[in-house]
Amino acid sequence: MSLSFSERKAALKSGRLDIKSLVDVALEHTRRNAHLNAFITLMSELAYEQAGRVATRLLNGEYPPLAGVILAVKDNIALRGVRLTCASKILENYISPYTATALQRLIDAGAVVIGKTNLDEFAMGSSTEHSAYGVTLNPHNLERVPGGSSGGSAAAVAAGVVTSALGSETGGSVRQPAAFCGILGLKPTYGRVSRYGLTAFGSSLDQIGVMSSDVEEAAHIFQAMAGCDANDNTTSPTPVPDCSALSEFALEGLRIGLPVEYFGEGIQPAVRNTIEKAAAVLRRSGAVVSECSLPHTKYAIPTYYIIAPAEASSNLARYDGVRYGPRFEGENGEDIIRASRQAGFGAEVKRRIMLGAYVLSAGYYDAYYKKAQRVRRLIRQDFSEAFRNYDLLMTPTAPTTAFKIGEKIASPLAMYLSDIFTASANLAGVPAISLPIGSDDKGLPIGMQLIAQDFREDLLFRTTKRIIELINI
Ligand code: GLN
Repeated sequence: MSLSFSERKAALKSGRLDIKSLVDVALEHTRRNAHLNAFITLMSELAYEQAGRVATRLLNGEYPPLAGVILAVKDNIALRGVRLTCASKILENYISPYTATALQRLIDAGAVVIGKTNLDEFAMGSSTEHSAYGVTLNPHNLERVPGGSSGGSAAAVAAGVVTSALGSETGGSVRQPAAFCGILGLKPTYGRVSRYGLTAFGSSLDQIGVMSSDVEEAAHIFQAMAGCDANDNTTSPTPVPDCSALSEFALEGLRIGLPVEYFGEGIQPAVRNTIEKAAAVLRRSGAVVSECSLPHTKYAIPTYYIIAPAEASSNLARYDGVRYGPRFEGENGEDIIRASRQAGFGAEVKRRIMLGAYVLSAGYYDAYYKKAQRVRRLIRQDFSEAFRNYDLLMTPTAPTTAFKIGEKIASPLAMYLSDIFTASANLAGVPAISLPIGSDDKGLPIGMQLIAQDFREDLLFRTTKRIIELINI
């Protein structure tokens, strides 16, 4: 019975549908899908309050652009008066005193939030297994991970609880779970969406992204939350292009590059074949698809896993059991902080803090952090050069489909390699989207990634819509 974004809007306008019934249905779905453990906090009372306000606006003849959108929000994004755990014990009882700019813009545009979703603790991970609130299951196969770190948001959308959700990206945390769960996931250009109210992980990499089963809805959500914000000095004044009119887009002449580095060893054959088949479909529709090269791709994971932990070790210094979280007693200040951080953080977060503190330490700063920053610039240059000849780059989103729960948890390196195709876009700052493109022989979804030049999210949405139409024919 689920209606598309535009059908839902039309039904609301004509009065055939009311907003509260949409909340009823979504909450009923959360109950039916409770076994997935997609949510950390459900907020039914607040959802009905928000729905009431949207209903009043509709009665007054106002049609907010996101009326009818029921949203789930990753639990590292602040919503005033609601618990903000970041899936960590250290924030178990923390209530946010303010709302993230991006989320406030969506609420102002008529979206209704029904709950906060599970994630890897502080968004560090690729499977949602590193959560203090239990693992989230992949709705396509309950023995598999949903990907991560925005696994709760991905599972909620894939299970049909909501049509869209917010996630966050530092190295692939929107795109990779979107691929594993068979939905869309957009990481905007760095600086396109305000980070105010997004719990900081790697500040030079972080962006809030949108996950959805409906491309039109995703584009409207992006449009509503993007743009300059006085509370985030890294937001760009570049005007947000119109992403709402997605129709009438022809692929003729569109230059698409297939970076050879993304099709090498370690990629599951079904993933490669599916992307190659999609490339053939695009060629038949008039796109000019050819191989290209991003020569520094092999350095993306080592570079990312120096820069992201370095920034994390600094950002997470504030969680000390004094300003936030349960406080443990000790002889002196240092003891208290040590005991509180020891008990409050999980193993992966501690690993990142140690890694980050190490690469920033006096004797190693030049050898690791400074060098990583230089390589980062080379990675960005690879993209600038490729975009002289191509409008878009097309790659698999992840080397494999969803892996089994427990399969990679004992090996941090194996887990880190899940980000091999996504981390480059974060390091370079460019926008990228993952779209569902097929499935493997076990029925597990395969995601395809499109990467564009800075601030060309409009092109990502338009091309995505056209590809989905073509593949479904
Ligand atoms: N999986 C990556 C990491 O563990 C990316 C996380 C993210 O994008 N938030 O750091």
